[in-house]
Amino acid sequence: MENYPIAMISFEEACALIDGVTFPLNTERIDLIHALKRVLAEDIHSDTNIPPFEKSAMDGFACRKADLQNTLEIIEEIPAGKVPVKTIGINQCARIMTGGMVPEGADFVIQLEHIEEVKPGNIRCIKESSNSNICYTGEDIKKGEMVLQEGELINPQHVAILAMAGITKPLVYSLLSVAVISTGNELVEPDEIPQKSKIRNSNGWQILAQAAMLGYHPAYLGIVADSEEALTALLFNVIGEYDIILISGGMSVGDYDFVPKVLQQLGVEIIYHGLDAKPGRHMLFGRKENKLIFGLPGNPVSSFVQFELLIKPFLSRLKGMRKKTEIRQIPLELDYQRNKANSLSFIPGIYTGEGNVTPVEYHGSAHIHAYSQANCIIEIPNGITVLRKGELVNVRSL
Ligand code: AMP
Ligand code: MG
Repeated sequence: MENYPIAMISFEEACALIDGVTFPLNTERIDLIHALKRVLAEDIHSDTNIPPFEKSAMDGFACRKADLQNTLEIIEEIPAGKVPVKTIGINQCARIMTGGMVPEGADFVIQLEHIEEVKPGNIRCIKESSNSNICYTGEDIKKGEMVLQEGELINPQHVAILAMAGITKPLVYSLLSVAVISTGNELVEPDEIPQKSKIRNSNGWQILAQAAMLGYHPAYLGIVADSEEALTALLFNVIGEYDIILISGGMSVGDYDFVPKVLQQLGVEIIYHGLDAKPGRHMLFGRKENKLIFGLPGNPVSSFVQFELLIKPFLSRLKGMRKKTEIRQIPLELDYQRNKANSLSFIPGIYTGEGNVTPVEYHGSAHIHAYSQANCIIEIPNGITVLRKGELVNVRSL
């Protein structure tokens, strides 16, 4: 990368610099409906046994196991949600539905498919199962048991557990405020038909979506022209208003790439500008007091990949997650070859059914469509042109 006007740092150094930034983690209570993708800031204990009572796992007939050979008289009907009023005695049973409360005296539920009617009001078991078909009180969770631990990322199944435990306002770590800006004279918004020399702004929406996937609620500040004045006017107002600003485009060394200069003029300390990795060489990371600015390259793949590699782990940590991004070592399905070996590269990949990974056809950093099929990013080390089938590569899931 000789003759490159920007002093580049290695990908590892970039990660270390970002990892070194800390923010105090605040907490807040939020409505359960908004808890998805947030991180719990408290342990959750169940205030009940689950199941809370002996529950039928089947539609069928509750009876005594000892009477399974006999004709049974039906004495009650128990739908889900009803408290039984009768006790099951010798050669008696109750018609019971899935989720119904098993009546006193019964220790078995014959499933509906395993009975025949002897005469109206009387049934007989025609096929015995080894399973009692009863879910026992507290069999899944005991009252008082810890069901979720502080630090847990809330996915839909955790929302279910919070609901089950009666937690309608979980305590979670607060989110930092994030703003997204697209720069470029050539950009129009997606609802416009681009005229000659124009293209639609895809990065802005991509970055908003990437941040939203992490549970953030980024503010979209629109498209800014490639002019010092326009950039200064916007950034002057918004640095200070948001904790993190994500800017795409205008980061490189062209005549109209004003972002780094304007940031510096506004007192932003440029921590790095230029990354020895492809795509995304023009990544910028800056700081003004406790406000952070990430400059993402304009090409959609560069912006997408650098968000995944550097910003996603950072935003994940700052929302309270402790788990690091998983990097798996997976064998290549096919031989891989590239023309130049002069950089660390990241390319789109797909996991194959055989437990391998294979690159997706990819034409370069404007080809975001290649990533529509990809479910992972494959790392190709610096200095390597050929990788043989079966060789291990570092892979990050999307
Ligand atoms: P830049 O980093 O501003 O030099 O832009 C590099 C390339 O990415 C150019 O071809 C731009 O037109 C394109 N580009 C920049 N910003 C966006 C955007 N928001 N959406 C889609 N493409 C963009
Ligand atoms: Mg530009």
